[in-house]
Amino acid sequence: MAQKGNIGVTSENIFPVIKKFLYSDHEIFLRELISNAVDATQKLKTLSSVGEYKGELDDLKVEVLIDSKEGTLTIRDKGVGMTSEEIDRYINQIAFSGAEEFLEKYKDDANAIIGHFGLGFYSSFMVSKKVEIFTKSYKEDAQAMHWSCDGNPEYVLEACEKANRGTDIVLHIDEENKDFLENARIEGLLKKYCKFLPISIVLGKKKERKDGKEVETSEDNVINNINPAWTRKPSDLQEDDYKNFYQELYPYTSDPLFHIHLNVDYPFNLTGILYFPKVKSNLDLQRNKIQLYCNQVFVTDSVEGIVPDFLTLLHGVIDSPDIPLNVSRSYLQSDQNVKKISNHITKKVADSLNDIFKNNRLQFEEKWDSLRLFIVYGMLSDEKFYDRAKNFVLLKNVDGKYFTFEEYKQLIELNQKDKDDTLIYLYSNDAEAQHSYIEAAKNKGYDVLLLDGQLDVHWINQLEQKLEKTRFVRVDSDVVEKLILKADAEKVTFTDEQRSCLTTVFSSQLPKVEKTEFLVTFENLGSSAQPIVLTQNEFMRRMKDMTAVQGGGMMNFYGEMPDSFNLVINSAHPLIESVLEKEENSCQEKTSPLLVQIAELETRRSSLKESHKDKKDEEIPIPEKEEITQIDEKIAKLSADKKVILEAFAAEEKTVRQLIDLALLSNNMLKGEALAQFVKRSIEMIK
Ligand code: ADP
Repeated sequence: MAQKGNIGVTSENIFPVIKKFLYSDHEIFLRELISNAVDATQKLKTLSSVGEYKGELDDLKVEVLIDSKEGTLTIRDKGVGMTSEEIDRYINQIAFSGAEEFLEKYKDDANAIIGHFGLGFYSSFMVSKKVEIFTKSYKEDAQAMHWSCDGNPEYVLEACEKANRGTDIVLHIDEENKDFLENARIEGLLKKYCKFLPISIVLGKKKERKDGKEVETSEDNVINNINPAWTRKPSDLQEDDYKNFYQELYPYTSDPLFHIHLNVDYPFNLTGILYFPKVKSNLDLQRNKIQLYCNQVFVTDSVEGIVPDFLTLLHGVIDSPDIPLNVSRSYLQSDQNVKKISNHITKKVADSLNDIFKNNRLQFEEKWDSLRLFIVYGMLSDEKFYDRAKNFVLLKNVDGKYFTFEEYKQLIELNQKDKDDTLIYLYSNDAEAQHSYIEAAKNKGYDVLLLDGQLDVHWINQLEQKLEKTRFVRVDSDVVEKLILKADAEKVTFTDEQRSCLTTVFSSQLPKVEKTEFLVTFENLGSSAQPIVLTQNEFMRRMKDMTAVQGGGMMNFYGEMPDSFNLVINSAHPLIESVLEKEENSCQEKTSPLLVQIAELETRRSSLKESHKDKKDEEIPIPEKEEITQIDEKIAKLSADKKVILEAFAAEEKTVRQLIDLALLSNNMLKGEALAQFVKRSIEMIK
């Protein structure tokens, strides 16, 4: 007699729910059904091993069968099967209280719903108009049973004929989901979710090419590797096994730098292998390469929130039955267990790096360039990781030598402290472009670091906060004499008038460079230093660099600013002295009378201003106000005349432009027409 009944849903009919809410992740039905089949198979193996099941085990594979004529997809296992009572208990009764609220909250998250209600089996209704179960329990004299339900709460349960132990789940795929009857689609899904399941999953027969045609062989088409490397003991594995497994995960990629085999059983269960990928450039980093498994069932490859952000740059596999996988993402991210796991992984990664550093420093240095982005990112984003990494993180100098923080400090301690006892770390972010500055620093006995990584701008800020009395200064941010100020600098001996004249002379010859500003300044750098040097203010430049990395917000303000350079004139250099001398010889005759007039006007102006000091604006006689305005106009006119004279001199005096061009040239800023003119002028000057 067939049993008829309603599926025990306490609050609401479950089927519309499944169809309506679970639309986004239809494909996971296959993962759920195969997981059930694998579970049933493993239960049988366990029963057999403890002697509760005495029959044969045979070939315990799980088969997936597509019948496109009938429109069915069948998942067949040879596991424990179910008795009539078990179907009643496990399939017919679904606890389903408090559903509405939960469903509303997670309506786009099939995982959460399935996990919450234990609806693994019922997810089959996402794609089927009718589902049948044919099952025969392993128990002695068990009656095979047939259960069927066509998408409403009514089911039919009756006895049937079934020769073999185990369960067939037969899905009558509905119209909208016909793609699940395509071999390629199913194979794709099996490869995604079932690649490393512990029981063989078979989809049809292997094919081979014969006489230009694809023909079926007699061999099963097994989808999965039932013994993936992470489930084996590290002591049983060779270096090559790890590499091969990496290729299995990510075919056609270059070998990883090294791996970390995770194996934890307390306070939670976790296994896995993490790989450091070889990064060729900062740009080809790929996130979401870590795959998350739950007892060898693939769950997701978007692991943000589950592992610390910087670890998402790693590749590999994490498998844990303790990460609650069938729940929503937001729940995962706040779960304490997940936090613990994530902290533990961070610690393991740091420990492994430390081991490699200690045991094989040379290897560590060789791989540093690929490793460093990852490590720096970790240090920036995770305090605990910073504390661990500070012992093995390396600084590389422009000569390609590597130092730990401690070693580097010792190297520069004697020579690179400024007058306030601050240790100055000199660095370059482009050894090619800043070559002349690097050379100048080296000639002074300084060491220069190479900090040209994507995150180094931020890292420098962090290190200045973490390392005591330390400042980072880019080699081109000042003239070498002033990079590390050991005593107060020599004074510039020029008078105000001399400075003013030279500023006019040199400003007039500065080329126009787009989005760039030059400010003429004077330093006494000594007679053996360069006559003119271009420097860029460390603070302003860093702000701009940070904007380039982050973009947006308040920082945008700095991004919009032009690049601003100091054109530093070395007052002690003979060539500068000679320009000044020539300027005075050829211009003074004409400018002196102007200066005398300006001086007279200024005297008059000051005395007027003095007499107005205690008066209110309306008490000042109008003629006196007018006189001041006239004086200002006259001074402006005289100054303009003076400027014309100085500029005419500057245009004639080739040395001025030549000195500027040389400074631009050593900064890689002399280009195009200006460069051509420079070459031409140089030749003329040699003649
Ligand atoms: P869950 O697996 O989360 O418990 P399911 O709805 O997927 O929820 O399955 C309910 C129960 O039905 C399982 O716990 C198991 O006892 C039984 N079951 C499902 N599929 C099979 C199968 N292929 N073989 C034996 N028992 C099964």
